[in-house]
Amino acid sequence: MSAMLAETRPDEATAVVEAPRRERKRVVIIGGGFAGIAAAHALRHADAEVVLIDRRNHHIFQPLLYQVATAVLSPAEIAAPIRQLEVKQPNLSVLLAEVTGVDVASRTIEASSPGVGVRKIAFDYLVVATGMRPSYFGHDEFARYAPGLKNLSDAETIRAKILGAFELAATTEDESERARQMTFVLVGAGPTGVELAASLAHMVKVTLRGNFRRIDPSKSAIILLDAGNRVLPTFAESLSRRVTRRLTKLGVKVMTGVKVETVDDKGVIAGGSRIPSATVLWTAGVAASPIPKLLGTKIDRAGRALVDPFLKVVDAPGVFVVGDAASVMQNEHPVPGVAQAAIQEGRYVGRLIAKALMGRKVKRPFRYFDKGNMAVVGKNYAVLERGWLRTSGFLTWLVWAFVHILSLPQLQNRLRVRSYPLPAAAAEPPARAASVGLVVFHRPAQLTPGSYPLPAAAAEPPARAASVGLVVFHRPAQLTPDPGAAANAGRGHEIIPALSRHRPIKCHRPQKRTIH
Ligand SMILES: Cc1cc2nc3c(=O)[nH]c(=O)nc-3n(C[C@H](O)[C@H](O)[C@H](O)COP(=O)(O)OP(=O)(O)OC[C@H]3O[C@@H](n4cnc5c(N)ncnc54)[C@H](O)[C@@H]3O)c2cc1C
Repeated sequence: MSAMLAETRPDEATAVVEAPRRERKRVVIIGGGFAGIAAAHALRHADAEVVLIDRRNHHIFQPLLYQVATAVLSPAEIAAPIRQLEVKQPNLSVLLAEVTGVDVASRTIEASSPGVGVRKIAFDYLVVATGMRPSYFGHDEFARYAPGLKNLSDAETIRAKILGAFELAATTEDESERARQMTFVLVGAGPTGVELAASLAHMVKVTLRGNFRRIDPSKSAIILLDAGNRVLPTFAESLSRRVTRRLTKLGVKVMTGVKVETVDDKGVIAGGSRIPSATVLWTAGVAASPIPKLLGTKIDRAGRALVDPFLKVVDAPGVFVVGDAASVMQNEHPVPGVAQAAIQEGRYVGRLIAKALMGRKVKRPFRYFDKGNMAVVGKNYAVLERGWLRTSGFLTWLVWAFVHILSLPQLQNRLRVRSYPLPAAAAEPPARAASVGLVVFHRPAQLTPGSYPLPAAAAEPPARAASVGLVVFHRPAQLTPDPGAAANAGRGHEIIPALSRHRPIKCHRPQKRTIH
């Protein structure tokens, strides 16, 4: 294969020039989510140059995004810089760029980096792991009024919208406007809608308690709408019923079998009736990123690439699609779009390529091992379905908390987050925090945009952090989303500026890269 590369020329057409022949094969992975990172990790011992490209410089633990949106966690707690992977894996290069083109015939991709321009990168193997994005079912005009929840910018936008609504409710003299500001409508009662609605219910009842003199946030209306006939349609009906009861107990009004017809600046029209609301949140559909379509292969209705049982793109040797971007069937059922499936698919393809590089063939097709399906419904309550096992309640929630904390991207994040849910102290007064014996368990809610509970410690060097005896007090500032991030939401790059202070990282090793 002839190696190719392009000079970087902003505002100019891509210039492609021949490069010296590469000694090692190149594996290009598009997407640093669960699937892409698992694929890169599985290639750590491979004799290949692995290039991991993402349009943002951080990996997000999406299952906890709703907690950022409802001011429980700060963005820093659920994100980790992708670049850190380079430090541990010598054959890996991380590139911040948005992939805008794929040419399977010439085996190149086009990647656009902010302020740099478009470059062409040749590949021997390509792994597409670009995930999904919110879908408004052909009504993209709704996006303006009803943000989806897919990345940190979305979560911060939602948090700002919720907090802003209470501020306006406290300011206005108009009763009906106050009611509109204090009405929250969530469209879509899948896991994201259910988790967000329950967490919002906790926020208005507990987190915001005592914060306003003129309004009582607990009097807010939270409405969860869905066109289907039950919440959590991917779970067993018995669990759906339990979750509906739980949501109702938390103060969420569940309206199923109701189709949303319009979303505008006044609220929504659903099932023929208008619901005035200043905060409409979209938790309904998802569609694949546009990249699978560029592969020239068959895609399903949601835009996912139809791959063979080895996760390969038919008629495109060495090209794979994994994670949410792939449509894979197993026992006549689609493999679900969940983190576990993405990790298993990424790992499988990484290993397959590693073997192929050694001249060996993988004979066993991909098999998804289902570890179970979980959803959390507010504080201390979760549901779990695994095969015939269906459980709900506090113990299930403990399992959920354990699994999610262990899955967080970085150790320091696990330590920080652990201090949130267990004592449920996020909004409790200090006295309550003291009663659990450790002030560290008192975690104020994230009520200001980009807020960090311990700002003084954020900029401190590690020695100072250690001097207070708890790693949780050391708050590295590396993940503070910059104001540009929100502006970039859904439009390509989403960048968090600086990297970790307490683990210095060499960011630039251009002489080792061969893509330039
Ligand atoms: C709010 C929410 C809650 C969820 N909760 C759960 C849960 O509780 N349990 C569970 O198992 N699953 C949950 N999921 C689903 C789970 O997060 C996904 O299945 C999983 O993230 C899919 O992994 P992925 O690697 O395929 O895609 P992603 O994790 O979405 O990663 C895709 C990556 O590709 C990058 N990318 C996309 N396009 C380009 C491009 N053109 N150029 C460069 N980079 C690009 C993106 O920036 C991103 O980093 C949740 C999802 C959401 C949104």
